[in-house]
Amino acid sequence: MHTPQKYKIARVLVDLSLNKNYDYYIPAELETKVEIGIHVTVPFGRGSKRFIKGCVTDLPASSEFDKLKFIESVYTARPKIPISLLKLGEWMAEYYCCSKEQAVRALLPGAVRSGKISKKNITFVYLVDPIKGSEYLFNNCSRSPSKAKVLKELLQRPDRPLSLLKKVTGVSDAVINSLVKDEVIKKEKRIVCRDPFADSEILSVEKPKLTEEQVIVLDKLQSMFYGKQKGFASLLYGVTGSGKTEVYLRSIEEILKEDKETIVLVPEIALTPQTTERFRSRFGDLVSVLHSGLSDGERFDEWTKVYEGKVKIVVGARSALFAPFRNLGLIIVDEEHENSYKQDEAPRYHARDVAVMRAYKENAFVILGSATPSLESFNNVDKGKYQLLELTKRIDDRVMPKVFTVDMRGQSEIAGSSSIFSRDLVDAVNDRITRGEQTIIFLNRRGFATHMSCNQCGYVASCPECSINYTFHRHKDCLTCHICGSIIRAPKNCPKCSAPDIKYSGVGTEKIESIAQKLFPLAYIKRMDSDTMTHKKSYEKVLSSFKKGEIDVLIGTQMIAKGLDFPNVTLVGIINADISLHMPDFRASERTFQLLTQVAGRAGRGHIPGEVFIQTFTPFNTAIQYAVNHDYNSFYEEEIDVRKMLCYPPEGHLATVRFTAKNEEKVLDIAEQFLNDIEPIANDNLMISPVCPAPIAKMRNKYRFMIMIRGKLTTRLKKYLTQLVFEKYNKHDIHIYIDIDAVSLM
Ligand code: ADP
Ligand code: ZN
Repeated sequence: MHTPQKYKIARVLVDLSLNKNYDYYIPAELETKVEIGIHVTVPFGRGSKRFIKGCVTDLPASSEFDKLKFIESVYTARPKIPISLLKLGEWMAEYYCCSKEQAVRALLPGAVRSGKISKKNITFVYLVDPIKGSEYLFNNCSRSPSKAKVLKELLQRPDRPLSLLKKVTGVSDAVINSLVKDEVIKKEKRIVCRDPFADSEILSVEKPKLTEEQVIVLDKLQSMFYGKQKGFASLLYGVTGSGKTEVYLRSIEEILKEDKETIVLVPEIALTPQTTERFRSRFGDLVSVLHSGLSDGERFDEWTKVYEGKVKIVVGARSALFAPFRNLGLIIVDEEHENSYKQDEAPRYHARDVAVMRAYKENAFVILGSATPSLESFNNVDKGKYQLLELTKRIDDRVMPKVFTVDMRGQSEIAGSSSIFSRDLVDAVNDRITRGEQTIIFLNRRGFATHMSCNQCGYVASCPECSINYTFHRHKDCLTCHICGSIIRAPKNCPKCSAPDIKYSGVGTEKIESIAQKLFPLAYIKRMDSDTMTHKKSYEKVLSSFKKGEIDVLIGTQMIAKGLDFPNVTLVGIINADISLHMPDFRASERTFQLLTQVAGRAGRGHIPGEVFIQTFTPFNTAIQYAVNHDYNSFYEEEIDVRKMLCYPPEGHLATVRFTAKNEEKVLDIAEQFLNDIEPIANDNLMISPVCPAPIAKMRNKYRFMIMIRGKLTTRLKKYLTQLVFEKYNKHDIHIYIDIDAVSLM
């Protein structure tokens, strides 16, 4: 028989990646304070000398162990995690085969978790009473001009931050303190917000009258919101420029009426300035932003606003999904097909899929929006899981851009262009320059040349630590590795045979820029890629100058491919459409179709119809052809058949098991052992590949191997895989991880 337990028990997830909970007794004096979601300090390991922080995940009635240690203290610097989020974290750990600790860590931003950042206090100075202040000024200040200065300033602006007051008056603390002593003025500490919008004004824009299609879509959403339809997720498939954002805005209005909250996910930080602007102009201070461009202090404050219920809408990148709302009504995932929603470190979650799960658990709704929905999401429409909402036309009956392919096989050389710009594209750009319209030129590769080789001995410059070639950057006169970032000075002679016969080939955006400058000497040309956009604000700067019409031709990588809405852009040129087609990835066609459609979608969004020139060496490739004809449906039909035949997602799931280490033999050996352990569970519904080198076989001096698992990934299977990683294979100096629903196979 058990003796009745004297102490209550807390289950704690400590700050280590052990994938284990530990039970502790709750000391009597902490009993009222310990609840699920709070953080505590606990003794850990042999003896009781080492202390560690952790999160309380459960308050079980009993423990399987009978002698427990006591919780040391409650750690309040880290805020309590709402239970619903904690449950979501536990689900993520199971679904994505990571440790529970990794999953729970993702729920709080680093700045908040650290416990080191707090609200910002500023000392303010104010007049106790204006009449008393002016009397004092007349009677007591004749021999103190400094005091007079302070009082004159405060009589004009009765309330000022101390530091600012000192700056404008130039007085010392002593002067201020003496006035405080005389009880004319007072000092007070106040909490202020570090405001990422501090220097941007809210432009309020009038609400447009909805188009017929928007009305129909919103009707359907209304019935989802109020009818409690079982289809809690909707896929908003709307062509580029069809007014999806307006649909989001109106949906949020509905959600606000119910006093509920909305999370809006946007794919990249780069996309947020234009998007946040639109949400802020409609909802003002009810909107908070959470993205990676914020300083730690700003992020802490934005997060705290959400936590304290001061805002109703969060717009942000992937991790904004974990905004600690307690009365969530809606999650919007804009550009749901984007790969950046998948996190590439543990927990390797897909924000779109977790959004659907969070909404389900919290009784909220989901809108996934895209002009080029992922095969996964469209397949969910097919299966009846998501409701389909369509916007087939652009706003104001603007036509979709006319898309032409330019067959680059055998393009005759144009003086100075080394056949990178086709005649057609050059003519088209010249047309726009004459008419004062704008052009976007897209190439998904940065740098000047992607290859440096020796004409004598055939040497190709490549990174010694990674299995890829160096890219030549002319402006910096260096070779860099686009994987590890290593940089070396560009050699004048071949490093191997010393011949002064070096050749550069393969174009990047830097070269496009220099060719364009020669081809269009009168145009103002700007390049936008991660080499030129090194400063936080440079992106916004270039975009605003593009908006004002100060730039004729904007050249860029995928940074300019999406989301931009500039009505004066009437031409888009795509330099090499084939790059993404040749990736060793079953999604190569899908990516190509999406990218071409998105880039093309930047053209003709204003009153003048747009044109798009796609330069390609494979003009009859079907992904390219469907993009030319704006034909998503046919693309989907064809591609889904291929996936079904080959058993690739969305037909079943795909997971990769990754192995990396410095020692090639060792890592291969472990991978083979791991394969031995899982091979027996392969069956008709589960295919397991042999161990193979990853397409990028070496990265940062580590060799990389992988196993691909396709088919029905059951919870039992995932448990087994997780167990192997965390228990059986955790002792080697080899990094092993599982990537469920992997989007990158490189
Ligand atoms: P998408 O996100 O589908 O590419 P947007 O939401 O950016 O399209 O809309 C394209 C443009 O049309 C934007 O400038 C937007 O302000 C405008 N717009 C949206 N809905 C309407 C409407 N009902 N009437 C007039 N203009 C609209
Ligand atoms: Zn490298």
